[in-house]
Amino acid sequence: MAIRCTLVNCTCECFQPGKINLRTCDQCKHGWVAHETLKSCLQ
Ligand SMILES: [Zn+2]
Ligand SMILES: [Zn+2]
Repeated sequence: MAIRCTLVNCTCECFQPGKINLRTCDQCKHGWVAHETLKSCLQ
């Protein structure tokens, strides 16, 4: 089950916490709220 960013045209498939801002995805630079759920991707 892919947990991807819900923003239109975003190809991010998994939330990656940023090193500077943990609430910002390191891959797509979108906020974590834009991602469906974080649980499955944090392994
Ligand atoms: Zn995104
Ligand atoms: Zn992302």
